[in-house]
Amino acid sequence: MPNPFSRKRKIVRQTSSGGAKKSTRVKLRPGSDWTKRNFITSVWIPSLFTKRSGARARPLFPKVQPGQICITWIGHASFLVQTHEVNVLIDPIWSMWLSVIKRLKEPGFHIHHLPSIDFVLVTHAHFDHLDRRTLRLVAADQPIVVPVGVGRLVHRLGFNIVHELDEWQTIELGPLRISLTPAHHWGARFLADTHRGFGGFVIGANERCVFHCGDTAYFEGFKEIGERHNIEIALLPIGAYDPPLAREVHMNPEEAVRAFNELKAKTLVPMHYGSFRLGYEPLEEPLERLRESARVHGIEDKVLVMTEGKPVVL
Ligand SMILES: [Zn+2]
Ligand SMILES: [Zn+2]
Repeated sequence: MPNPFSRKRKIVRQTSSGGAKKSTRVKLRPGSDWTKRNFITSVWIPSLFTKRSGARARPLFPKVQPGQICITWIGHASFLVQTHEVNVLIDPIWSMWLSVIKRLKEPGFHIHHLPSIDFVLVTHAHFDHLDRRTLRLVAADQPIVVPVGVGRLVHRLGFNIVHELDEWQTIELGPLRISLTPAHHWGARFLADTHRGFGGFVIGANERCVFHCGDTAYFEGFKEIGERHNIEIALLPIGAYDPPLAREVHMNPEEAVRAFNELKAKTLVPMHYGSFRLGYEPLEEPLERLRESARVHGIEDKVLVMTEGKPVVL
């Protein structure tokens, strides 16, 4: 007879490599000018009256050939990454509300149109990245990978094992090598749970390599990530850079371009914009600024702006 308590013990941590590391966690203290504007009246209430845009269409997932990577942006920081062998889902969120914040753009397709998912990765516990309702629908006894301290939030949702990774740790899952990278951000879902880890993921599939940055302010760690990994496709956040508490927690489009150059990646896919108003900046501003910055730096041909729900084979 199976031990009913055994299900509670399926959070697996990698053995620590030891050594002191510099903290990249940002402080909770608001920036100095945060009281000068009112997020509730200038962003939150207008959002409630904004009509949701976008439409869900049945996605046409191509047959992925050996050596190819297919990427589908679902919206916000959610991506489906497919190789010819496996399907990986990162930071999936199909919810229409982040607690009281309205989603202003539909996900690219219905969740029931997902292919079978082999692995799920969640970069950190913030509500726009770790959506328990979505995870419960996606969970089908496959493994999930999260940063240290996040496992308990997902281990009862229907995954067969929870792998917790610390910064720079790598795990081999099937044909993939998955590493957690540092970020300049924070991981608390509420206020006091600051022990939770956070980061990004480098996904290596044979000679191909995709980097999902998670959430981060600009920081000097991009160079090291680029030195340690041969990153080809970089999914980088460009929105929420003007947040309600004026804290430096998300990079802006110009910083994303700088990060891209320091990563020495070949393709920049912008994300974390257009779905939720998490900052004062208008929804369309991040992409406009990214295009302008890419033009200034002569990397327009390397920027791949995706449409939610439209798979792209690279
Ligand atoms: Zn976050
Ligand atoms: Zn976020």
